[in-house]
Amino acid sequence: MKHAKSGIGRPVAAHGKKTFFSVHPSRADSFTESVIREMTRLSIKHKAINLAQGFPDFPCPPELKEAACASVTCDHNQYAITWGAKELRDALAARIKTFNRMDLNPETDITVTCGSTEAMMASMLALIQPGDEVIVPEPFYENYGPDTQISGAVPRYVPLAADFSIDEEKMKRAFTKKTRAVILNTPNNPTGKVFTKKELAFIADLCIDHNVVAITDEIYEHIVYDGHKHVSIGSLDGMHDRTITIGSFSKTYSVTGWRVGYALADEAISSRIRKIHDFLTVGAPAPLQQACVAALNLPESYYRNLAAEYDRKRKILFAGLKKSGFACELPEGAYYIFTDISGFGMNDMDFAKTLIEQAGVAAVPGSSFYSHGGEDRLRFTFSKKDETLDEACRRLEGLEISGKR
Ligand code: GLN
Repeated sequence: MKHAKSGIGRPVAAHGKKTFFSVHPSRADSFTESVIREMTRLSIKHKAINLAQGFPDFPCPPELKEAACASVTCDHNQYAITWGAKELRDALAARIKTFNRMDLNPETDITVTCGSTEAMMASMLALIQPGDEVIVPEPFYENYGPDTQISGAVPRYVPLAADFSIDEEKMKRAFTKKTRAVILNTPNNPTGKVFTKKELAFIADLCIDHNVVAITDEIYEHIVYDGHKHVSIGSLDGMHDRTITIGSFSKTYSVTGWRVGYALADEAISSRIRKIHDFLTVGAPAPLQQACVAALNLPESYYRNLAAEYDRKRKILFAGLKKSGFACELPEGAYYIFTDISGFGMNDMDFAKTLIEQAGVAAVPGSSFYSHGGEDRLRFTFSKKDETLDEACRRLEGLEISGKR
């Protein structure tokens, strides 16, 4: 993981005395700020099109907006129950039973959190004692690095194979006596890989043999293409008690700013997550939790349509990137294209800055998805209106950079 610079001392005057203030070292020094969010700030500064941070620039379904307004008007404005409004937990349990094929008791096994980001952090804090090892397949969504650092875990980064599938030998070797958890993310950010039932069963067997918990981030579960199927590892034999499944309303219903996500686990683990969650945030926004019940009442056609919309957007961005000389593959799921920029003769940071400043398009430098390496990659999101993607592609095509293929 990349290391942040520690605080710099400076002289200060207090009560007539000259003294010297310097921030003491802390765990916050062991990681940097999010590169994804930094790219959004840079993008705003340069008025660029933000294909860096994965959030939609189109509206959420009208049913959600109406429900959110009604919820505030009806005075759902005080704390919900710490682990989530009952109506929402009940609706989630029903949906998860049919879609994810997992049986959960809404009274004990579901914790509604401030986005999947909090769900992951609370899960790690609930499971980890300092020094425990956590397996993180690499490349990985940026947050998992700091999550391990904050919880005191020792991350064991395990490279995925060249096609981003699980490398069985490397994965097997990573499990030790100290391993407490393995972090999965399917469909995967940034690679777009949708892990197959066979790959997940292989990891499940390792978890069972080594008494390890799978923490699985499934935030893109409804965004899959070309007949790929989303499988929840928690639904596989022997995994019920040893899986934390993380989900969210952010991506499925285009409400990333609402900050409503959840962590699902059997009671023994959930009771620990709930304590951590309570003292971290007390609860997710109460009126929006009520509105999320309306989201879960949307018909099945909503999910088919979501995947079809993203399929079209994926193809628009893919064609544009190819035309501009980026080496890339169509992703199997999620809403990112993870490009190979080695042909451009520039590292990821320089290239990302050049793109923002000269083309007016923001992307995420690949190195933010690796403990080491990734300088030969850039990640672009296609979670944008068609016209936004068309304009971004037009700008990329017009970019003059040396080494452009
Ligand atoms: N998941 C999104 C991404 O990878 C954004 C996450 C965030 O910034 N909270 O871009």
